[in-house]
Formats: sequence, structure tokens, C-alpha cells
Amino acid sequence: MRILVTGGAGYIGSHFVHAAATAGHAVTVVDSLTRGFADAVDPRADLVVADVRDRDAMRQLVARVEPEAVVHFAGLAYVAESVAQPALYHDVNVEGTRSLLAALAGASTTVIFSSSCTVYGDAQGRAVNEGVPLGPTSPYGHSKLAAERIVDAHCAATGAVGFAFRYFNAGGAMPEAGLGERHDPEPHLIPNVIAAALEGRGVDLFGNDYATPDGTCVRDYVHVLDLAAAHLRGCELGRAGETRGGMIAVNLGSGTGHSNLAVVRAVEAKAGRPLAVRYLPRRPGDAGALFADNTRARQLLGFDAGRSKIEAVVGSAWDWHAGRAAQRKMPA
Ligand code: NAD
Repeated sequence: MRILVTGGAGYIGSHFVHAAATAGHAVTVVDSLTRGFADAVDPRADLVVADVRDRDAMRQLVARVEPEAVVHFAGLAYVAESVAQPALYHDVNVEGTRSLLAALAGASTTVIFSSSCTVYGDAQGRAVNEGVPLGPTSPYGHSKLAAERIVDAHCAATGAVGFAFRYFNAGGAMPEAGLGERHDPEPHLIPNVIAAALEGRGVDLFGNDYATPDGTCVRDYVHVLDLAAAHLRGCELGRAGETRGGMIAVNLGSGTGHSNLAVVRAVEAKAGRPLAVRYLPRRPGDAGALFADNTRARQLLGFDAGRSKIEAVVGSAWDWHAGRAAQRKMPA
């Protein structure tokens, strides 16, 4: 299948590109490289450096590649940054999506959009299914919801199969393929706890008075390779015509919540020593617990969260970060 992948030089996109190329698909990546890395793109894929907001570039690219599926990872993904720069988030995440869909014109190309559990807002400690009321609490979450609605309208108009995959917290790595998480600054808990352990520092956690078993926030960590497999399945479903046209929102999460402190414990197990934990006040806007009901993903995609055990997520991320730290220490 010809697959166009936006943001394929980023964290989740690069793992998907590797999986898609390994499955024998013809993959073209378009990425601005503002937050991604050319060396993360599997050499079996073509890399085009362009901004998804560049309508002419996107039109020409789509005309040349004639994709059967488009997987749209490109976007900005930091909640705090979105609060400081809401217009930028709207521009990249919403207008970027509009530009991509305009390039597809009336074609019924399958569209898979990277959405986020932030569209739900605070779920108050229940497993969240796709039917709960939506209520993003940040400009980032609002931009994802707005883009979902544009994808939905596009699919309704063209009869294309579309998925808004609402990821929970992506984690893990594929060190054997040289792939892992390289965000700067790094907003995510697992790589930050690993960095602290590797550098011999302590860890700061925000809040220990939530209504959760140990008082720290609970999140749902899903392995990036389980995400990649779900996207491949989405592409296949679109081609097989097994799904009616129109967009479907699907949670991609492990279905299990782990507390911040449990993540620290999992990193300690890999590091082989305890980490000092300091509790800071709650951060405004952080939900106490957020984890997925992934029933729809299992039923529709045969989604398998088999690699998303917290030990495997943390373990593969540890191997990736520790390997890079060791490389940096090696004399040139
Ligand atoms: P990332 O920052 O690692 O990757 C995003 C990629 O998009 C980067 O390679 C970047 O260079 C590219 N990009 C950004 N703006 C672009 C533009 N205007 N034109 C072309 N390319 C552009 O992020 P990620 O963690 O891999 O996330 C991928 C997608 O998944 C994002 O849309 C994000 O919002 C969404 N998401 C991620 C998570 C997570 O836990 N990482 C959770 C929910 C949703």
C-alpha cells in the first residue's frame, strides 16, 4: 500500500514508519524536521522535508505519491507550550490538518489522525470510553478536537474511512532499530524519570494528594509499538473496505492506569537503586486519573496492548536512553 506519513520523523511516527516499511508498504514521510530527526526515518521510506501547512507543497506531494492511506502524526504536542502559544497550536494542528485534507481533495484516501486523550478533559477516575462528554482543558486539547471535527467532515463528504486515534500516554522505544523518544524539552514522565536516574538526580512529582491509591496522578501508558501496529491495522481496514466511510474515534491506551510513583518504582527496578522523590504542589489542569476503556480498539482493530505492560514500556525506554547516554560518554 502507498502510505503518506506526516510527522514520520517524530517519536511515534518514526516507529510507525519502521513498522509499515517492514510490512512491505511504500512509505513517504513528510516532516518539517522542526521537532523530528531525519536519522529517525527508516531508510526504506522516502523523506520529503516540508511543512504540512504549505498547501502547494502538500498538493504536489499528494499528486505525486497518490497515497491509499495518509497517517497524520505531524503536529505540536506540548500542553504547556500550547497555553503559552495557543495561536501557534491552532495554526499547526488545525490549519495543518486542513491543508493536508485540501490536498487530498475529493479522494477517498483513508485518513488516520493522531488525536489525544486530552480531548476528554478531566475524566474523574473512570476508564474513559469514546462516548463520554468531550471537554478539553488546554489549547492543545482544543486543537486536537477541532482537527478531529475537520477530519470527520472530510470523511463524511468523501466517503473516506477515517480514524481519530486518541492516544493516551505513548511510551517505550525500539532500541534495536535505533528508535526512541527524543523530545526537547521532554514533557513526558517516563523519559524524565529515566534521565534523573541516569544522571543520579532525584525526581519531582506534582501532587501526592489526589484521590488515587498512592496519591499521585494515574495515567495510561501505551507502548509505541502497540500504537504502530494499530495504525497499520487502520490502514488495512481502510483498503479492505471492511469499515464504512466516515470517521471513527478510537481510544488507544493499555486500559490500565499506573501512578506516577509506580513509574518511579519501575525505573528504580531497571536502575537497580532507589530514587529520591520530592513532591511539589499539584500542577493546574492535571487530572487525577486518566486511563482508557479500549474496548472499541480491541473490537474494531483487534488492538493488542501486549507490549504495554509498564515494565516493558519502561524497560525498552530505559534501554534506549541508557544506550544513548553510554554513546555520549564514549571518547570520539
Ligand atoms: P513529535 O514531536 O515527536 O513528532 C511530531 C513530528 O511532526 C515531528 O517530527 C515534527 O518535526 C513534525 N512536525 C511538527 N510540525 C510540523 C509541520 N507543521 N509540518 C510538518 N511536520 C511537522 O510528537 P509525537 O510524540 O511523536 O506525537 C505525534 C502525534 O501524536 C502528535 O500529533 C501528537 O499531538 C500526538 N499525540 C502524542 C502523544 C504522546 O504521548 N506522545 C499522546 C497523544 C497524542
